[in-house]
Amino acid sequence: MRRLLGLIVLGLCGCSHVPPDITPAEVARIAAPDPALAAQIAELTPALRAEEMARDARALSEGRRLSAAEQEIARKVGVQHPEKVRLLRVAKIPPMADPRLATLFPVSRAWGLTTGYGITVTKAPVPEWLLAHELAHVAQYERLGPEPMLRRYLAETLVLPDNLIPLEREAIAIGDRVATSPAYGY
Ligand SMILES: [Zn+2]
Repeated sequence: MRRLLGLIVLGLCGCSHVPPDITPAEVARIAAPDPALAAQIAELTPALRAEEMARDARALSEGRRLSAAEQEIARKVGVQHPEKVRLLRVAKIPPMADPRLATLFPVSRAWGLTTGYGITVTKAPVPEWLLAHELAHVAQYERLGPEPMLRRYLAETLVLPDNLIPLEREAIAIGDRVATSPAYGY
């Protein structure tokens, strides 16, 4: 049975075999977007940042603090400030309002969504592998900063629409050090 790893910062599709290699040309295009790609990123970033900020504000205000054991997982995956993280459980992650973003990031199919220090999940209790994965994204936010993180996520998604993007590969690899995820979707 095909299973989705619905984690992502913002989206995923649904294949579960080994993802294709990322080519040097794709890596270069992500690092230095050509004018057409840069224009797409510039056009989509404000709406994506607005979605992210609204979702993060909700998770921060309505979510719960991490337990001591969960904070230990956060430290293991590199989070600098586990005490700032809030975990919100919802029945289903609401879709993106912007139709272009809704197509790029089908978040309503995701099991988790990290938007900064706010993590929204659809599973309770949250499985350790899912928590570790989302916390790895928190560490990415801390390392890159919120807006650069979104631009990078957007660039990777636009360059690699049918592949597992590097930020997800990294989060999966880091999360798997704590608890192995059940399947990889991309
Ligand atoms: Zn992820």
